[in-house]
Amino acid sequence: MSDDKMGTKCVQAGYTPGNGQPRQIPIIQSTTFRYETSEAMGKLFDLEEEGYFYTRLQNPTNDYTAAKIAALEGGSAAMLTSSGQAANFFALFNICESGSHIVSSSSIYGGTFNLISVTMAKMGITVTFVSPDCTEEELNAAFKENTRAVFGETIANPALTVLDIEKFAKAAHAHGVPLIVDNTFPTPVNCRPFEWGADIVTHSTTKYMDGHGAAVGGAIVDSGKFDWMAYAEKFPGLCTPDESYHGITYAEKFGKEGAFITKCTSQLMRDLGCIQSPMNAYLLNLGLESLHVRMPKHVENGQAVAEFLEGHPAVSYVIYSGLKDSPYYELAKKYMPNGGCGVVSFELKGGRRAAEIFMKHLKLAAIETHVADARTCCLNPATSTHRQMTEEQLKEAGIPAGLVRMSCGLEDKEDLIADLEQALAQI
Ligand SMILES: *Cc1c(COP(=O)(O)O)cnc(C)c1O
Repeated sequence: MSDDKMGTKCVQAGYTPGNGQPRQIPIIQSTTFRYETSEAMGKLFDLEEEGYFYTRLQNPTNDYTAAKIAALEGGSAAMLTSSGQAANFFALFNICESGSHIVSSSSIYGGTFNLISVTMAKMGITVTFVSPDCTEEELNAAFKENTRAVFGETIANPALTVLDIEKFAKAAHAHGVPLIVDNTFPTPVNCRPFEWGADIVTHSTTKYMDGHGAAVGGAIVDSGKFDWMAYAEKFPGLCTPDESYHGITYAEKFGKEGAFITKCTSQLMRDLGCIQSPMNAYLLNLGLESLHVRMPKHVENGQAVAEFLEGHPAVSYVIYSGLKDSPYYELAKKYMPNGGCGVVSFELKGGRRAAEIFMKHLKLAAIETHVADARTCCLNPATSTHRQMTEEQLKEAGIPAGLVRMSCGLEDKEDLIADLEQALAQI
């Protein structure tokens, strides 16, 4: 299976039915699992044997889907979470504690920015944000003696900046900490951060992986390459006995390949919950079966829409890394030679009023707080998510009033462009 190409893995990895077993992954809609003796169950609690006892910790449907995602990213282990937010929190909190410090790209999803800068600060975890475009010198200067992780997004939502993964991985490793990359927008079909030195990958599976706007979910994948024991003093949670788990030392018992995900499951899932429901894991797997077919179409539509908008007189600029004059064109070509994703941002010259008129007249593209769906959707931050801000504040935040974020779906590009054209004509 590990030699199979991406498409074959999307369709078949993670689950191989035995003789007479269901072809599609079964939905094990059960909270608990039955055992014949207490002894047999005890072995599971001691992590001596593999098996299921309670769905908050593990469930077969979730494990099949997680195994597929691990195969797609080329990782050693993976787990599902209830949302992308939970995935990023767990990935960071698995190695950070009160007194720890994180170096993060400043160009990240708003929810993650808030999680790291506000909520995790209340837990005593501090952060230094750096521009994704910073020099190596600036990046290295952000590290402190208590830094435990570096974080960034391959293609940031919504700024669409592209992360120089090798630059960030090099700095992280020089300081003995892992690089965590949120790979939601390109998905492993278009970028595999482990091949460029990332150590942990996270996903909001709510986006392209599910791809149909059906199920909220998240995933964490471990490359299995980071040597926790080599920096044991930085990662006591992985490298010293866990008294809340019978004195197990995760990095010793499960090695580089298994320690991170085993600890994350047996401590954080146990104590904080955030499990994905088996039904959602089943829906997610259905989405993954066509991910390699859908992503090229999202890219094709994104590219066509970006090129059309670039030449339109009502548009002042377009942000899309597939455009030759994008500042991220070269980086995108290096890390995502087949294209990134279908999300395009652009500014309308007429500002907030123009955006309002334009969006009201769109027939195919719906107004939604969502991206990466089979159906095209769009959002004007100034009249929705950021509507409390004044024009001045919007400008300062780098979100001009006329900015529209458009997530190109799987419709025919000629129809999408015709829809844009008629709506732009109304301004
Ligand atoms: C949407 C998103 C998240 C949050 O995911 P949810 O599933 O909505 O919790 C995190 N990171 C990125 C890049 C996202 O686009």
